[in-house]
Amino acid sequence: MTATIIDGKAFAEKVRGQVAAHVARLKADHGITPGLAVVLVGEDPASQVYVRSKGKQTVEVGMASFEHKLPADTAEADLVALVQRLNADPEVHGILVQLPLPSHLNSDLVINTIDPAKDVDGFHISNVGLLGTGQKAMVPCTPLGCLMLLRDHLGSLSGLNAVVVGRSNIVGKPMAQLLLGDSCTVTIAHSRTKDLPAVCRAADILVAAVGRPEMVKGDWVKPGATVIDVGINRVERDGKTKLVGDVDFASAAAVAGAITPVPGGVGPMTIACLLANTLTACCRANGLAEPEGLTA
Ligand code: NDP
Repeated sequence: MTATIIDGKAFAEKVRGQVAAHVARLKADHGITPGLAVVLVGEDPASQVYVRSKGKQTVEVGMASFEHKLPADTAEADLVALVQRLNADPEVHGILVQLPLPSHLNSDLVINTIDPAKDVDGFHISNVGLLGTGQKAMVPCTPLGCLMLLRDHLGSLSGLNAVVVGRSNIVGKPMAQLLLGDSCTVTIAHSRTKDLPAVCRAADILVAAVGRPEMVKGDWVKPGATVIDVGINRVERDGKTKLVGDVDFASAAAVAGAITPVPGGVGPMTIACLLANTLTACCRANGLAEPEGLTA
């Protein structure tokens, strides 16, 4: 069997198109422009690339982008004060504080200062609780992107066995909650799981969010399963730096029914879902109908 390749790049473009169309209607019908504020502390090169890319795509879909770049030695009180100003700013509908923060700053405290209604990353403790109890939440972007790809590829997920490898707060746990919300039977695996290959082989849906290059092999995959590879790992191959996922793509694609590639799978969905979340937050703030198909 050779798997269908799930094209996250194309799907992300479609999501951005839907967001842009909805933003244009908001402007024309209500005079409202959704706004996203991104806060970057310090000069971490990867974070700078992400923030640039987020700002560019925000403007491309017709939203307002507000970038706040602060020096690495910013005091916690100053960062908290900025977040509080953004909470009170009516032109800002979404706030994202780029992680990781420098080590002298308390990430939990800063994230939990964000107004939950503007928490487009879905990391605020209130949104975590809302998602966990099946209520309307702001949902973390990467798992939301995975869910959209799965729904698009499989239709209903009801009754399917899903295995999520990884239990982080930003990917694994919210991913499991979303799959449960769509009535999958969910197993969360992690570094202490016994016989991980056998656990994975029971999955109709296998999500790998581990951070270990090509760990999941083809013989861990149930024939016909849908494999979502969240991993982004930089490895040296033949003297060049290459991006690979947490799944050994070649062997898994020979067994799976469908698989996301790295790059071009889950990665592009993350920013697309950030834009979708900003639009959703703006609609909720203004008591308007939410965009269809862009929320959990
Ligand atoms: P974390 O390091 O926070 O979590 C990794 C998880 O994997 C942990 O729960 C850990 O288990 C588990 N794990 C580690 N080693 C093993 C192992 N040998 N067997 C089974 N489980 C293991 O990572 P993140 O969740 O933040 O990220 C995961 C991957 O997704 C990374 O490659 C990251 O780059 C990528 N990523 C991609 C995004 C995108 O936009 N596409 C966005 C965010 C992340 P334990 O808890 O027991 O330690």
